[in-house]
Amino acid sequence: MFNALVMEKDEESGLASASVQQLSQDALPHGEVTVAVEYSTVNYKDGLCMSPKGGGLVRAYPHVPGIDYAGTVEVSSDDRYKPGDKVVLTGWRVGEAHWGGYSQKANALADWLVPLPDGLDARQAMAVGTAGFTAMLAVMALEDHGLTPDHGPVLVTGAAGGVGSVATAILGHLGYEVAAVTGRPETGEYLKALGAATIVPRADLNETSKRPLEAETWAGCVDAVGGAMLARVLGQMKYGGSVAAVGLAGGAALPATVIPFLLRGVNLLGIDSVMQPYDNRVRAWKRIATDLPMEKLEAMIHPAALSDLPQLGADILQGQVKGRVVVDVN
Ligand code: NDP
Repeated sequence: MFNALVMEKDEESGLASASVQQLSQDALPHGEVTVAVEYSTVNYKDGLCMSPKGGGLVRAYPHVPGIDYAGTVEVSSDDRYKPGDKVVLTGWRVGEAHWGGYSQKANALADWLVPLPDGLDARQAMAVGTAGFTAMLAVMALEDHGLTPDHGPVLVTGAAGGVGSVATAILGHLGYEVAAVTGRPETGEYLKALGAATIVPRADLNETSKRPLEAETWAGCVDAVGGAMLARVLGQMKYGGSVAAVGLAGGAALPATVIPFLLRGVNLLGIDSVMQPYDNRVRAWKRIATDLPMEKLEAMIHPAALSDLPQLGADILQGQVKGRVVVDVN
């Protein structure tokens, strides 16, 4: 028997709610690798999956959410994994369309797993989670498009959130001058400790400008917010600069013009963590182990248990989670 957070739908109201339940091994869906989960986490998408309508992501109930997990292989029918191996899983619609990580046991396809890199344990991997993994993908994409610290300041939007906190810490560690955008002024000291050089109030950027181009200010940007803020930032990029578009915490619409692309050669780089190919996953996790200072990761962590998850899901949708939640499922 093991514990899991199970979402069940009330047929009358059509709304789902969560409870911690004891399940037996035969409740697990088919998989090639059985993982004894040690830690999971809470991303924005987990908030959506735990919401009463499943955020449009969950298709079938009962459902175990949790888009990320890390733990130890118990049983494997695939040659790539053997009992005792430490693994991490993010993406592949796990926790949305498939059984997720808010459980002491999970079955996965071997293709979905990545061996934990040297230097990271399961708890640290979940402090990173999809949010931090995506932040690393975003930094790698900016670098692949030529960004180096001598090009000038790099903007991070939604900075006090999960993606933003990890992006700030990685960029700061790599020697970039980080400007952190936040709507929570009380997080200023936290962001500076992570590596931000300056704090930009959200109100400075969350409205569209009448002018398609403003002063050339940012050499790069990791954008977790989207919407009007992304449109505004595009017009403030330096010539040839790149924006890694990661999220939509501020909206999915993009009320922008093409002028920054045409007159300043600005690049808008899409970042997807869910279907990311294996080789780039391994590359990103190795970079996380080397380029994300562990003491900064520790400063982001809020510990939690399975029973805390429904509240944390609601909190993250309200933009009220600072840094990264680490869920000890045991
Ligand atoms: P968090 O909630 O932890 O962070 C989002 C942050 O955005 C908040 O903390 C807040 O930062 C800021 N924010 C919230 N609402 C608004 C608003 N209305 N206007 C402006 N800023 C706002 O979420 P995550 O870091 O987990 O995820 C961030 C985004 O990235 C989400 O949209 C998520 O879906 C997306 N994402 C995408 C992935 C991909 O593969 N492309 C993978 C992972 C996440 P502050 O308080 O500092 O202003």
